[in-house]
Amino acid sequence: MNRRSFLLLTATSVAATPADLVGAFANEPSRSSASPTSTSAWYATMRRCGQINYNECDPLTMDTEAWGDYWASLKVDAVLLNGGGILAFYPTEVPYHRRSQFLGTRDLFGELVAAMKRRNIRAVARMDCNLAYEDALKAHPEWFERNQDGAPRPHAESPWLFATCMFSTYFTEQMTAIYREINQRYSIDGFFTNGWPSTGPLRVCYCENCRNLFAKLGGEPPGETDISNPLYRNYYQAYMDRIQEIWRLWDNIAREKNSQSVYVGNLGGGFDAVKDLKQLGSVAAWFNADHQWRAGETPIWNCAQQGRVAYSVMQGRTITNVSGAYSNAQPVWRHVSKSPAELTLWMAQTTASGMVPLFHWLGGSPEDNRWREVGRSFFDWLAANEVHFRNRRTIADVAVLYSQRTVAFYSRPESKRPGYRGGPIDYLQGLYYALLEGRFFFDLVHEGNLDAANLRKYRVLLLPNAAYLSEAQCEAIRQYVKDGGSLLATFESSRYSEWGEPRNDFQLADLFDAHVTGDFIGPHGNSYARIEARHPVLEGFHGTALLPGAENRVPISTAVPLTLSVVPAYPAFPPEMVYPRTPRTTEPAAVFHEKGKSRIVYFAGDVDRTCWRSGNSDISQLLQNAIRWVRGPEPRVSITGEGLIEAFAWETEPGYALHLLNYTNPNMTHGAVRHTYTLGAQHVRFRVGRDRVVKNVRALRSAATLKFQHQAETVSFDLPNLADYEVVALS
Ligand SMILES: [Zn+2]
Repeated sequence: MNRRSFLLLTATSVAATPADLVGAFANEPSRSSASPTSTSAWYATMRRCGQINYNECDPLTMDTEAWGDYWASLKVDAVLLNGGGILAFYPTEVPYHRRSQFLGTRDLFGELVAAMKRRNIRAVARMDCNLAYEDALKAHPEWFERNQDGAPRPHAESPWLFATCMFSTYFTEQMTAIYREINQRYSIDGFFTNGWPSTGPLRVCYCENCRNLFAKLGGEPPGETDISNPLYRNYYQAYMDRIQEIWRLWDNIAREKNSQSVYVGNLGGGFDAVKDLKQLGSVAAWFNADHQWRAGETPIWNCAQQGRVAYSVMQGRTITNVSGAYSNAQPVWRHVSKSPAELTLWMAQTTASGMVPLFHWLGGSPEDNRWREVGRSFFDWLAANEVHFRNRRTIADVAVLYSQRTVAFYSRPESKRPGYRGGPIDYLQGLYYALLEGRFFFDLVHEGNLDAANLRKYRVLLLPNAAYLSEAQCEAIRQYVKDGGSLLATFESSRYSEWGEPRNDFQLADLFDAHVTGDFIGPHGNSYARIEARHPVLEGFHGTALLPGAENRVPISTAVPLTLSVVPAYPAFPPEMVYPRTPRTTEPAAVFHEKGKSRIVYFAGDVDRTCWRSGNSDISQLLQNAIRWVRGPEPRVSITGEGLIEAFAWETEPGYALHLLNYTNPNMTHGAVRHTYTLGAQHVRFRVGRDRVVKNVRALRSAATLKFQHQAETVSFDLPNLADYEVVALS
């Protein structure tokens, strides 16, 4: 997935249904007062889900019974089926709700719903609220988004369709009329909307409704989505409010006939979410992450990141993630299969990170059927071991703050912020890579959940350049440290308010024991950190006085004795000129100290981002050492062995499950994975609860019972090898 280039594209051509094109959007469930608790709802226990996304001419050829048989063979709990929106696949009577021109006398949607019901599979109507035809545009010009010149916004590839505006009655009257018609005629279990609301940047529309909205907020719709503009800040909240209002409205309509029914929006986007996930999570009962694929240099672990992001706001409620079985890279091929190894590893990350896989094909009469068995074999295995995928909670001792406002506003190409330094998620990516290399067990904590109750279980909180933090959030962090938690922070963490207003000093200067002495410096290559004193964080760096420096840094002062000093940048070319002009300074590159029971590390440089962009092994090692030092010895779970892996540990209904994903692959950062390179033995130490007795340790993918030792609280065993994915169940 290369979402960033897609977003840049949409910034200039605002007519597209993002999710369908990109597969990178998440949706979040929460509770309207009328809805049942999600633990009692059918989707709360769903473990496997499918989607067949058919097209206008499929009514001519589609074999609905064969599709029923296919989905039944995957033992899915539910299937998403195209109902309507852009096109109706049933004989609708709602004006301007166009029937497929090939529908004839068929009721394709009704046939498919019936085919699923006969097989005891739940049916969810997949809708699209984002586009409508020209006859609707003529009859209801107020339903549509407008450019500044008043022109409607045609779809880039299908220009006979026009973008609808979510602030219009298209969302509150037309879509609701369609939902009610479907609800009345068919026995369905929910509605899902493609492409809405998404988690990506906000669109600015110039229709009458939106102009009125902006007038109320105090101005004209701004040309730029710039967070330093107070009007845009108000718009951001008005936009989030509208999403929640529509979500609740549609959820209530979904439940009008059947209180167990549900509305599901389209979310996703992994780390790169602009719309407030906490607020989306407060209305969503089921989070569907439309995060299907990767492209370009996107690392394979992109899907697991989506799972972590969604978990940070859903905290155990249902999350599905779409795995596109077709070849949705860049360029995209809708009608041929993806590499089976890539597709399987994507679904494996989905389940490892606690999401429910949603297996997806596009086109009702495929000519390529290779994908079918990939889904079937994975889902068969899931079904056979279902009990071990019923997670209760994660087991992790490290928390990473998911500072969503920093991601959304701090360093975006569209932010026009002076000193824009690259991708908004590079800081998180660099830290993430170090966490994988160091085999840490960690969770993301969304900034909206930064409180004692959520932080209690972690030994350390990591702030990868959490630049935008409110005073209340900083106070929560301060309290966490006061209670004995440890902290690692980088670069401009807490330097700005939640809206990006700069502060004179870090709001957390007291914790960092570091004070800002000037504006940040950089970007500069060829700067260094000099080792001034030995420290556990510098373990393993023998035979060198220098370490690579960060590309950007905040100049700081500290009362803590100097361990790593800054060697400022000097020319890297031509070689004759390459020598330090200031070989020695007293400017700290990092501060390591202890405060009561807490250990605290502050890096003045953007070491995380520099690690990600350079791939430098020393910087990753430095980050790993620092995380290990602040976390302390004896982690809850440890895995030693060769290879780059990602691991998740879950407390499950029958005991515990340890998920291991093998990323050691030449296609790790340039897909698609086409082959698995099996790793050798992995030694695991797993501290279980004090009163827990483990009687069986079983590798579920290898279908092998493992020998283990159980001493006091620790269960230890060797996994003889690791192919693409293994789940070890301790019960
Ligand atoms: Zn509008």
